[in-house]
Formats: sequence, C-alpha cells, structure tokens
Amino acid sequence: MAIRQDDNRPSRRFGLINLLLIGFGVLLLASNFLPNPAMQVPRVPYSLFIDQVNADNVKRAFITSDQIRYELIKPPAEGAPTVLATTPIFDMELPQRLEQHGVEFAAAPPRKPSFITTLLSWVVPPLIFIGVLQFFARRGGMGGAQGALSFTKSKAKVYVPDEESRVTFADVAGVDEAKTELTEIVDFLKTPERYAAIGARIPKGVLLVGPPGTGKTLLSKAVAGEAGVPFFIISGSEFVELFVGAGAARVRDLFEEAKKKAPCIIFIDELDAIGKSRAGSMGMMGGNDEREQTLNQLLTEMDGFASQDKPVIVLAATNQPEVLDAALLRPGRFDRQVLVDRPDLSGRRTILGIYAKKVKLSEGVDLDKIAQATSGFAGADLANLVNEAALLAARAKRTTVEQGDLNEAIERVVAGLEKKSRVLQADEKKVVAFHEVGHAIVGHLMPGGSKVAKISIVPRGMSALGYTLQLPTEERFLNSKEDLEGQIATLLGGRSAEEIVFGEVTTGAANDLQRATDIAEQMVGTFGMSDTLGPLAYDKQGGGRFLGGNNNPRRSVSDATAQAIDREVRGLVDRAHDRALAILSHNRELLDSISHRILEKEVIEGDELKDLLASSTLPTEAALQAVAA
Ligand code: ADP
Ligand code: MG
Ligand code: ZN
Repeated sequence: MAIRQDDNRPSRRFGLINLLLIGFGVLLLASNFLPNPAMQVPRVPYSLFIDQVNADNVKRAFITSDQIRYELIKPPAEGAPTVLATTPIFDMELPQRLEQHGVEFAAAPPRKPSFITTLLSWVVPPLIFIGVLQFFARRGGMGGAQGALSFTKSKAKVYVPDEESRVTFADVAGVDEAKTELTEIVDFLKTPERYAAIGARIPKGVLLVGPPGTGKTLLSKAVAGEAGVPFFIISGSEFVELFVGAGAARVRDLFEEAKKKAPCIIFIDELDAIGKSRAGSMGMMGGNDEREQTLNQLLTEMDGFASQDKPVIVLAATNQPEVLDAALLRPGRFDRQVLVDRPDLSGRRTILGIYAKKVKLSEGVDLDKIAQATSGFAGADLANLVNEAALLAARAKRTTVEQGDLNEAIERVVAGLEKKSRVLQADEKKVVAFHEVGHAIVGHLMPGGSKVAKISIVPRGMSALGYTLQLPTEERFLNSKEDLEGQIATLLGGRSAEEIVFGEVTTGAANDLQRATDIAEQMVGTFGMSDTLGPLAYDKQGGGRFLGGNNNPRRSVSDATAQAIDREVRGLVDRAHDRALAILSHNRELLDSISHRILEKEVIEGDELKDLLASSTLPTEAALQAVAA
C-alpha cells in the first residue's frame, strides 16, 4: 500500500535559528569556565582555616557565597603566600569565632551577574522553547520536516491503492450487511453519472458504527480499493491538537485538497474525538472550544460541497455513536449509518480462513472448532489469534501451526498473555482456587449452551488471577430467562465459594459482580423478563449503546417504577446468589476435592475436568428454600 504525505512541506527554515541556538549554548557553557582571577589564590581546607583562626593567625577575612578569602598575619614558612582562600561551609558560629579571635571580616553581596550572563538567561530559554516546538512539529509529520508555522496543514495521508497491496472486499469477511451497503457507495464513486441522470442525490456521509477491531478501518480501505479513487485518511484525534483554531483550519485544508482530487473519499477515523455532542460538553467545564470549532467547520464543509459528477464522499468510523452530536447525523451529513458488528460463527470461520492462508497450517487443523470456541471475538482478535498460534509454533521450532497452538492462542487472546512472573501468595492462591472452582461447579449445573472447558489459577494478563473458561457448545442467538439466571448464578459462584469456605469475601469478585448486575439490569430493563414489571422496555434501544441520540439510557418512568426496577434487579441477583450458595453447600466435598487438585496442578481441563464435574448434583428444591430463608 502506498501511504504518503500529501503536503508541500516547508524546507528547513529554522536552520539559522538552530545555528544561533547552538552558538549561544556554547557561550553559556564557556562562561562558567572563564578564568576567574580569584582562582589564582591557593585553596586550603576549611579545617586549616579554622585552625589558623583559632591560633590567632588570621588578620582579616572576606566572605562571599562561594569562597572565603583571608590574609594571614604570619605565613607558615618564609615566602609562602599570605593570602589564602577556602570554600565556606555552612557554619553559624563562624562570625562569633572570628570576632573572638580578633579577625577583621566582611561579607560581599552576591556576585552581580555579568552582562553576558543576563543576556543569555533571557535569550536562551525562549530559543530552547522554539527548538522544542520545532522538534514536535517535525515528529508530527510522517517523515517530512514540518515547520512550526504550518501547524494547520492537514495531516491527512493519501492512500493511493496500488495493484499488489490493494485492499478489496475479499479481504473483509463476516460483515456482509456492511459490505452490501458499501458496495453501493463504490457504485456511486464509479458511475456518478448514472445517479445524476436520474436525479438521485448521492449521499455525502456514511458512518460506520461498531465495536473496536471489527474491521471499520479495513472496510473503508476496501471501498477505496474497489472504487479506485484517492482516499484521504485522517484520525479524529489528529484534529484536536495544540492550538485553538488549528483543528478547524485543518478541516478546511483537508476538504480543499479533496475537492481538487475528486472523485475521492475522505475517511475520518474515530469521529467521536471531534464529533462529541456539543450539548453534552457544556457542563461545569464550560465545553471544549477547540473541538466545537472543529466540529462546526466539519458541518460547514459537509454542507458546502455538492458536485454531482465529482463526488467527495465522507466515510467516518466510531465505536461510540451515542456521544456524537445530533447535527452530524442529519440528512445531508452522515445520514447513512452502517453497523459493523462482531462476526457470527460462519463469519468467524471465513475470517479465520483468510488469516490461516497467510501461515503454514498442519494437515489436521480444524478451523470450524476454532470458530466455535471464539464466540464474541472481533476480526482483529481472530487475526491476532492466528498470528499468536504461528508464534507459538515457531517458538516450539515446528514448521507448521497445529491445532494445539490455535487452542493455546485462544486462551492467550481471551485472558491476556501468560504472566508467570506474577506470584500469588499461598493463601491468595487458595482463595483463587476455591473461587474458580465455585464458578465451574455452578456453571456446570446451570442450563444454557455452554460447558466448562478449563479451570486455571495461573495468573494471566493484567487483572485476571485465575479464570474459568466456558465454551459454547452451539452458536446461540437467543437466551431464555432461565439461561440468563444461570449465567448470573455462575458469575456469583466464585464469591459464593469464598463465602462458604472462608466465611468472608475478597476484592477478586468485583468484575463478576459487575457483569452479573449488568445481566440482571438488561433482563429487567431491556428484555422485559420481569413478571411484576411486564414486557416493557424500560431502557431505550440497546441500553443507549448504539445509535441513540440521547445520553440517558432509561425512559422517563415514575419514581415508583424506578424503585420497582431496582427491587427487581436486586431480587434477580439475590436469588441467583442463594442458588449458587445452595449448589456449592450441597457439593461441598466436590468443591474441596477439585480445589485441592487444582492447587497441585494449577490447570484442570479436558476429560479430567469433565469426569470431576460429572459427580456434581443439583440440590433439591427444599434445600434451595432453606438457604433462601
Ligand atoms: P476497527 O477500525 O473496526 O477498529 P480495523 O479495521 O482497524 O478495526 O481492524 C484491525 C485489523 O483486524 C484489520 O487490519 C484486519 O487485519 C483485522 N480485521 C478486523 N475485522 C476484520 C474482518 N471483518 N475481516 C478480516 N479482517 C479483519
Ligand atoms: Mg479503526
Ligand atoms: Zn470470578
């Protein structure tokens, strides 16, 4: 791919200043080493000076902040110097002592700085500042020297698709709806006349919305690759920089350039960095002027250009559409929104296929299995997974990637990289072991399409001290109320085990509780699964996460309803907690035995785990009631 800077960079206009800067620096250094007349006087240790004072041999002393010069009454030897110098020590008693021994003494005010030092101290700091600015300005540009005075130049990179490195739709998989929508955009760019002839208005802005790593950037490059037009790529955060006004000027520059190269595409990645709602930002902080100006400029530019036969289409991507200013989403701006979501099973299989072609796979590798085990992975995670597997194979000095490498890579991507260096204390390890086994036993007994595949107490990643891996046995799009209740109970299984075994809880369950509460809230607010509150959606579409203009995720409800919602959520979590406690008390022996086993082995998986969990049983209804009471 050919990415180059589309800027006529100013030359090194600061060459002269650089020279001056170096010159002054050298002078400043030199001034410290200039021969000082005072240096000619022999220096003696302070202790000798004091001895001589005590011996009443000092006539007079002249004290400055960095030396004491004194004259002896009688030199120690014939012809020896009578004037000596010493370095002062912080000594409060000196004046008293001098007085006692009849020394005549005086102190000098701090030395007056010479003219040249004064000049340097005024001139050099600003020059250094300019130097620093210049340094950053250079680094800001990709390679080329960008002067401090051209901050406003658009930093857009032009991506001119060349034959070999061209990204096409074939490189993107698992996001078929988005591809269909964007194919139409490609058509606009290829044959604008057709649309103009019939009087159809070509859309100006298309917004790609979706979680990170799902291929938004990749898709927009594919659009450029398919249409064969120039492609300006810039990230929203690059607009928002140093000086107020620079962002707006950059937007202006960018559109000017684009108009010259039309038909073309402008791609603004991370649009949310500039497009945050203006209303939302007026708070105590008084808003962000710079961003607002940039946003206004963008709106103006999008309204401004309208050439039917030479279209400029603005693509943008964001993973936080809910924070975008409503003005951006109006017709004539980003009026098209394309959802780029995480891939489903077959999508994941296709993406794995694309990346598996880039490495050497061994014969027996079954990518279907890998696709099954990676539910929830985005495209970027899958690309990462294949690469991790290849790295593992290479480290083991094998020539092909095997199934085991891919399996291990899944765990790495799921739980972060193995971090053996992190050592748990023995008692912590015990808590983690019981916690994870608690998850596993409850998870095993709960309904739903997944099975417990592995328990590990090897610390991984930044925060996970241990983990229990549940793999789905089938691809599921729908979850019943029972499934979700089971998920909440499983999440609370870790904490419940701690309560039963140690009689207290630790901070290790914080993330579990967060997720459990989220599920309970969604059940009540989004899925209408509460019996008392009925099939109403109290939370707005998607809980405010996608495509909603309003920041408040909840519909306006009466106080009584709000309280009822809170009570219902609380009830769901409490019941799940009781259930987990009942299950673990009922299977207490198994909890102990698996926990001890894992403390020895650190990891239990596969058939061994299956056999161990097989002996767990659900408590009777009566036992459940007893715990709840
Ligand atoms: P986003 O912009 O949505 O955060 P990117 O487009 O930057 O994600 O994706 C990062 C990388 O992940 C891509 O360069 C590509 O290698 C891989 N990738 C992500 N999604 C897909 C996909 N749907 N198909 C193929 N590769 C993908
Ligand atoms: Mg991106
Ligand atoms: Zn946990």
